[in-house]
Amino acid sequence: MANIRTLSRKKHIALVAHDYRKADLLDWVSANKDILAQHTLYATGTTGKMIEEALHLPITKFLSGPLGGDQQIGSLIATGQIDMIIFYWDPMNAQPHDTDVKALLRLSVTWNILLACDRTTADFIITSPYMNSEYQRIMPDYTDYLSRDIHENE
Ligand code: PGA
Repeated sequence: MANIRTLSRKKHIALVAHDYRKADLLDWVSANKDILAQHTLYATGTTGKMIEEALHLPITKFLSGPLGGDQQIGSLIATGQIDMIIFYWDPMNAQPHDTDVKALLRLSVTWNILLACDRTTADFIITSPYMNSEYQRIMPDYTDYLSRDIHENE
């Protein structure tokens, strides 16, 4: 039987933007401020500071992304404390913390959480009726992986 985790009406949303995409994210957050204010917000350090100062939205800020903030958010995804991430990563510039960026994207998919990396996807998510209601999230089943015999290749 599928393992279900109920997302409550109030979602836990992480916001992250690389430097060249911060203005785009701020614009999107500004356009959706009233909806986002009904949820619990988290962000990497600089992104969070920018949103807080510009829009006065309460937001839990972690370390700056390159200093470990991506990994802090990744850890909350792995422990089921983040439901959604709006992650405006920069497709045109390499980041010093590329490995962390990749890890964050990977964990989002690993745990089947909502992930938007562009405005169109973010718009579709924020206007979904599920934003305002509970949602039964089917948890990925990693039983086979966990029970894999570590000696099977010996
Ligand atoms: P920042 O981090 O919000 O501290 O700039 C973003 C990131 O690179 O993950």
